[in-house]
Amino acid sequence: MRPLVLATRNAGKVRELERLLAALPVALVPAPADAPEVDETAPTLEGNALLKARALHTHTGLAALGDDTGLFVDALGGAPGIRSARYAGEAADDDANRARMLHELAGHADRRARFRTAIAFVDESGAARTFEGVCEGTILTAERGAGGFGYDALFVPDGHAETFAELPLDVKNRISHRARALEAFAVWLGGNPPPSGHPLC
Ligand code: IMP
Repeated sequence: MRPLVLATRNAGKVRELERLLAALPVALVPAPADAPEVDETAPTLEGNALLKARALHTHTGLAALGDDTGLFVDALGGAPGIRSARYAGEAADDDANRARMLHELAGHADRRARFRTAIAFVDESGAARTFEGVCEGTILTAERGAGGFGYDALFVPDGHAETFAELPLDVKNRISHRARALEAFAVWLGGNPPPSGHPLC
């Protein structure tokens, strides 16, 4: 199996990735404890995903996967976008970010928004490629649902009546921005074996 190191130690994300990449001959490896912290200083999701994947590839010499996600709200001119994790401040948590979102959108009739995820893959030789997944939806005027994380309790994906925090996880994992980006990556990886000198098995 080809080792693929992930730019996350989040067990939930690792499980999601394992399910989505199960058909491929890769062995997913969580980011090592001594991997460097990466500052998300790029102006785009793709740039930040690449910073994370490149840092891990340099640290481990293995193929590496990085990701970055943002919520882009039309009535806010695309905010919070790449700043979604720090919307309510540098040390903001999910509760504070959702509270700010409700505050900023108060009185707005246009609630259209979309999650975007960029996945960056850096192979054993250092060659890089990025993939994107998008999930369109609307932002509610109050939170609903106890599941999920981040902005899930405010976001109703198109085609559903429930928020991401109300939908079963297996439904979210079929339609989410992250799932779509990973699908694009999995399709591409399935047709692209590793560079010579790095056999699959
Ligand atoms: P990250 O790039 O995965 O760290 O996510 C950036 C920001 O978007 C954080 O505030 C996350 O909580 C939020 N976020 C990422 N993915 C999701 C999701 O699937 N649902 C809701 N919020 C998310």
